[in-house]
Amino acid sequence: MAEKSTQQGLVYLIGAGPGDPDLITVKGRDCIARADIVIYDYLANDALLTHARPGTQLIYAGKVGGQHNREQWQINELLVEKALAGNVVARLKGGDPFVFGRGGEECEALLAAGIPFEIVPGVTAGIGAAAYAGIPLTHREFTTSVAFVTGHESPGKDVSEIDWQGLSLGSGTIVFYMGVKNLPLIAANLIAHGRSADTPVALVRWGTRPEQEVITGTLATIAEAVRLRGFKAPAITIVGDVVSLRDKLRWFDNRPLFGKRVVVTRAADQAGAFSRKLADLGAQVLECPTIEIVPPEQWSQLDEAIAGLSDFDWLVLTSANAVQYFFARLQALGKDSRALGACRVCAVGPKTAALLRTQGVKADLIPTDYKGEGVVTTLRSQEIRGTRVLFPKGDRAREVIEKGLKALGAEVIAPVAYRNITPASLSAEVVQALEERRIHCITFTSSSTVQNLAALLGENRLLRLLEGVLVASIGPITSRSCRDLGLAVHVEPREYTLDALTDEIVSAFAAHD
Ligand code: SAH
Repeated sequence: MAEKSTQQGLVYLIGAGPGDPDLITVKGRDCIARADIVIYDYLANDALLTHARPGTQLIYAGKVGGQHNREQWQINELLVEKALAGNVVARLKGGDPFVFGRGGEECEALLAAGIPFEIVPGVTAGIGAAAYAGIPLTHREFTTSVAFVTGHESPGKDVSEIDWQGLSLGSGTIVFYMGVKNLPLIAANLIAHGRSADTPVALVRWGTRPEQEVITGTLATIAEAVRLRGFKAPAITIVGDVVSLRDKLRWFDNRPLFGKRVVVTRAADQAGAFSRKLADLGAQVLECPTIEIVPPEQWSQLDEAIAGLSDFDWLVLTSANAVQYFFARLQALGKDSRALGACRVCAVGPKTAALLRTQGVKADLIPTDYKGEGVVTTLRSQEIRGTRVLFPKGDRAREVIEKGLKALGAEVIAPVAYRNITPASLSAEVVQALEERRIHCITFTSSSTVQNLAALLGENRLLRLLEGVLVASIGPITSRSCRDLGLAVHVEPREYTLDALTDEIVSAFAAHD
């Protein structure tokens, strides 16, 4: 790193937010992207590290519970050392750096070493977890103030630094951080200093994350409830009448798929939209791509077809991949959608048609049955005898379209536009979750997704790992592939779309619970 030393180092002290990775600020995210080194904590969501540039050094400075991997002075020294070497350092801390985050101490160390720093505030756990539990910390009908208090003070202390009297009198909401272990003492102190024993209390664990857990009670009952449930840190404790509003305002942990772990097996670059849909309904989505989409071994067939594009009467596109690869190749050859000329376009379903529109092309035809058979049926009504049809396909495409259209008297040219390959391995995290029986549902959105999973796991292991897991298949062809492998299919929507599949998964869980 010799070349760095001429450059002035700098530290961004960034609040990572309470857990949901979308709760970081825009500035915080930009600072991560600018950093040479990211030093992050246990409570900062790892997902935020994906904002770092490739090659950025990532250093875990975590502290778990009382076991400090590194002492605070060691972290201070690390920050100073890295910044003095000329690096831009992003110091990523859970919640807000200045709320029980020892951010002040880190700044003092930087100041002493003459290193410039910037503070990027974050959503502190008290604010974030309360919001995701549906508890407004202030409310005109209940209280006019809120206090953030450490619950970490050792119980044996002779003189408490916490103003129990001041906190207990009045009706202010109190949010305790780090207070799960000391909860019996906290509750007892508040009651002893005058808070009513009936005051509602909520503990929010892993707030704003898909694992969020909430337990409620009163100052009199909460400690015992927490003990019985085996409820553990990290959690905030909210004390005050506002807690009662949760019954009405709860919105996050009562969504239909909340607490369900759902595996998405689509190719990595396609999983996004489906995963987001499931996550928006509360599911914890685990992506485990069983397909990799790669270019064909050679382009000559597709290139030849594109060279003579204006001689075709129909272009048939039966997947998002087909759209993407076809238009990417068109561009690579120096052309654009105008090369289609009078060629009409048939898209297999609304999603494919929507993607086509992003290429500036409106589908002329979308079958009502969103699969190969549907394409043949609709084109039959178009009198395609004697016409020329271009069907850029995946290497594993079924033969229905080619055969069907040829039988109707069309000339079908079907070059391979992309290949569907089995990746070298599966996500280790997902396989482990399956082994540990932590998965509730697995989704298959094409035959290859399930066939490749079987190829990677072995059929026997596949059946063993999916015992008790809800199997959701997008349509009859995929379901048949599941059954051929000995898998029972529990969910299959009537319409072969991801939206319909998602709806059916919701109904299946609703019927179960
Ligand atoms: N600087 C952090 C607080 C660090 S102290 C912030 O501003 O949020 C660590 C304590 O924060 C934990 O013991 C717990 O009380 C609380 N905490 C952090 N993340 C949390 C989360 N996602 N849900 C509930 N409590 C959390």
